[in-house]
Amino acid sequence: MQIIVKEPEKQTMTIKNMAIFYHHSPYIFMCCLSVLGAIAGSFLHVCIVRIPKGMSVVSPGSHCPVCKKPIPFYYNIPIVSYFMLGGRCHHCKQPISAGHVAVEILSACLPPVFVLRFGLTFEAVIYCLFAFVLIVVSCIDGKYGIIPDRISIPGAIVFSLANIFMVNADFFFVAGGVITGSGSLFLISLVYYLIRKQIGIGGGDIKLMAMIGGVTGAQGALFSIFIASLSGCLAGILMILRHIIMKRKTEIMQQIPFGPFLSFSALLYLFYGEKMIHWYISFSMLGPDT
Ligand SMILES: [Zn+2]
Repeated sequence: MQIIVKEPEKQTMTIKNMAIFYHHSPYIFMCCLSVLGAIAGSFLHVCIVRIPKGMSVVSPGSHCPVCKKPIPFYYNIPIVSYFMLGGRCHHCKQPISAGHVAVEILSACLPPVFVLRFGLTFEAVIYCLFAFVLIVVSCIDGKYGIIPDRISIPGAIVFSLANIFMVNADFFFVAGGVITGSGSLFLISLVYYLIRKQIGIGGGDIKLMAMIGGVTGAQGALFSIFIASLSGCLAGILMILRHIIMKRKTEIMQQIPFGPFLSFSALLYLFYGEKMIHWYISFSMLGPDT
């Protein structure tokens, strides 16, 4: 396993200690990161369930949604408890949502992946937290068709500031990203509204794009909107095809939540955006005439 570690003079004590830990036992280090990710995933699931209902994410403590009995800590170990209990509540034996363990597993995978890609840096930490927030946004938008302001507005402010003060991003890079991200999506939604006389892109998506732009900058924001539109269109076509194949007679007009596509595209940009853009430019410069 090869990992990027900053120059010694640029390291903080925490990163230095983590680098020492990593060099001594890389696999144990990655396992510890996964455990932290799984614990974070457990909390993310609480956010996914409670934020759309306007509930506190802190109290009451974890409880079964069916029998309302509190879940003791030894039955509340991320990932492990789900499989230990066979995916059922220990008290009423009703099934626990598989989404719960899926979020925990996904969250457990993310911290090692970000550290492998961005090294032991604040960048890796901020981007990983950004991915955690995008998981919550995508699940809520996928289930309820909304992106709560409780997430997107503080998210846009906190991640923009973190990008400036912890990742050392330029102020104009961040401000440009926020304005380009939210502004271009606002313009698209305005044009759509003027043509179709109905809302195509919700305000939640526009605020989410402010958060994405604050992390990825203007180029990343435009990339995210472009890739999200392409993948959203593809999903729409697949839905229409499925509708035709299943010979359903019901109304097909159904809104596809845009948040998960924007989130996926933003993460794709963080990992491969620059490479994909360079590849696209060199490919288009080859042109049919050369
Ligand atoms: Zn129960």
